[in-house]
Amino acid sequence: MNLTSRIILAMLLATIGGISLKFFNDGGYLGSFGELILVDFFTEGVLDIIGQIFIASLRLVIVPLVFFSLVCGVVSISSTSRLGSISIKTLSLYLLTTAIAISLALAFALLFNPGVGIDLALPTSFESASAPSLKEVLINIFPTNPVAAMAEGNMLQIIVFSLLFGIALKSLGSAGESLKRSFEVLNELMINLVKMLIEVAPYGIFALLFSLFAVQGFGMIGDLAKYFFLLVFVLIFHAFFTYGSLLSILGRVNPALFFTKVRSLAVFAFSTSSSSATMPITLDTVKNQLGVRPSIGSFTVPLGATINMDGTAIMQGIATVFISQAYNIDLTMIDYLMVILTATLASIGTAGVPGVGLIMLAMVLEQVGLPVEGIALIIGVDRLLDMTRTAVNVCGDAMVSCVVAISEDEFDSEIFSSKN
Ligand code: ASP
Repeated sequence: MNLTSRIILAMLLATIGGISLKFFNDGGYLGSFGELILVDFFTEGVLDIIGQIFIASLRLVIVPLVFFSLVCGVVSISSTSRLGSISIKTLSLYLLTTAIAISLALAFALLFNPGVGIDLALPTSFESASAPSLKEVLINIFPTNPVAAMAEGNMLQIIVFSLLFGIALKSLGSAGESLKRSFEVLNELMINLVKMLIEVAPYGIFALLFSLFAVQGFGMIGDLAKYFFLLVFVLIFHAFFTYGSLLSILGRVNPALFFTKVRSLAVFAFSTSSSSATMPITLDTVKNQLGVRPSIGSFTVPLGATINMDGTAIMQGIATVFISQAYNIDLTMIDYLMVILTATLASIGTAGVPGVGLIMLAMVLEQVGLPVEGIALIIGVDRLLDMTRTAVNVCGDAMVSCVVAISEDEFDSEIFSSKN
């Protein structure tokens, strides 16, 4: 079996196994000994340990992988002005797709009214972590200490440092040759580490999803079914329709091939709920499956994992309308425009880790004067939605990487159309 099939099989087995275990456990069919062995020892013990170690290993490679691959990428780009045009294209596409995502979400939510007529006890308090202001975000992009940036895993700062380092290394000319070669070797080394991780991925994915579904049932969807399914529908619609259209219009490539090739990437993102932890796999997929040359992918992917969150923006759009309807507060056209603007900008300052979307949602709600405690209404179903929207976030990064690579002629169409 090839790797993609193994990953998809692992996901299916884990979902069926986890849901069945929860069913038998909730029904009291396991008995206390069965519960001890299957739930306490196997699921919450062994599988949880394997899952956490798998995520830790993915995180382990992120900082050195981004640093080495981005420096090598910058060195291989012919001129600094080209670097500027790549950056502008990438940033504009990321912001554009996020703005489309949230506008779609608002439009669908206003059409289907997920929060009208729901009979839920409205919460009166909710403790939300606060998101940084736009001013802080902009200042924080620039590192004061590269070692601190790497130690904290501050991706935007690492990107800025790596870009500057790469430009400076390139300008050394022949004096920098041996250092350039060392970076290439280190980059290869990190890529090999990622390959090792990919080999064990089906086990990691099985462990993560099994332990999640064994505790997380679908029962809590109940009253929130309309919100839940509308959100899932818009996520799928955006992934296939928006990304598909952009790939055919801007990239002139076959979207169906793209979607076939990002299947296991989407499963990875779904299982980890983190664009950041998925980054090593995103890099591998855009280079080896989609044909994006490393000079582009090593810039677009880390940037996308940090600032591009279309799935999260969709959640924010639908959640905002849901909360305004649940609390019976009318929003004006200006409010909706504010939602689009705030959600798009908020995505820049928050890293792709599980649950961060809710922190950004608090910022959006505050901006338009909606009660932040409304988040407590939807938090119960957010785990599953977080997984789904992370898959969309990551596919968005891969799509933009392809479009930028094609426009820069840094795209290998043979790899893109190959069957692997
Ligand atoms: N978990 C998402 C991601 O990593 C962010 C979020 O929506 O909470 O992309």
